[in-house]
Amino acid sequence: MQKLASVDPLTGLYNRRQLTAVFEHCLVTHRRSEEQFGLLLLDVDHFKTINDRYGHDAGDLMLTHLASLMKVHSRHDDWAFRVGGEEFCLLVVRSNQQLLQQVAERLRQDIEQHPGQYNDQKISFTVSIGIAVWPEDGSTFASLYRQADRRLYQAKKDGRNTVVA
Ligand code: GH3
Ligand code: MG
Ligand code: MG
Repeated sequence: MQKLASVDPLTGLYNRRQLTAVFEHCLVTHRRSEEQFGLLLLDVDHFKTINDRYGHDAGDLMLTHLASLMKVHSRHDDWAFRVGGEEFCLLVVRSNQQLLQQVAERLRQDIEQHPGQYNDQKISFTVSIGIAVWPEDGSTFASLYRQADRRLYQAKKDGRNTVVA
């Protein structure tokens, strides 16, 4: 029951409800160790077009493909979430601005270079990513998430398939 309540059934990632609880846990451990951590907020570019062109099942499969790439790019104690339809969040522990940018850029490139497979079709897509680092960009969950979201919006405005830190 506990697992059902905390995991997104499509991707197997944690769901949005877990994000605040995990954040509070990270706050305690990082205050104690005086280390930084951060959020990457990802949104699939023109995802509606994938659904329209290939169908909703293909869209679903691309979301699971994306989730598995996120797992590849996270360390064992990082946390990956599906926070909305085609929006994802990676909470990177013991991190800093430079490392977060590196992780985000590698993930962005990897997604761009590895199309998903649906039946015999390869489906390419890209993501936009906004980054926020605790505590500089916000000391509370709400303020940090808001900053990451603003930067994600900026990445969309900058033409998508980009990282804004
Ligand atoms: P943008 O680059 O601005 O983010 O464009 P977008 O098309 O990705 O964004 P928009 O918000 O217009 O569309 C998101 C789409 O995601 C619309 C919705 O039908 C689809 N979607 C949301 N959840 C799911 C899901 O679980 N499965 C599938 N296949 N599609 C989903
Ligand atoms: Mg979206
Ligand atoms: Mg989108």
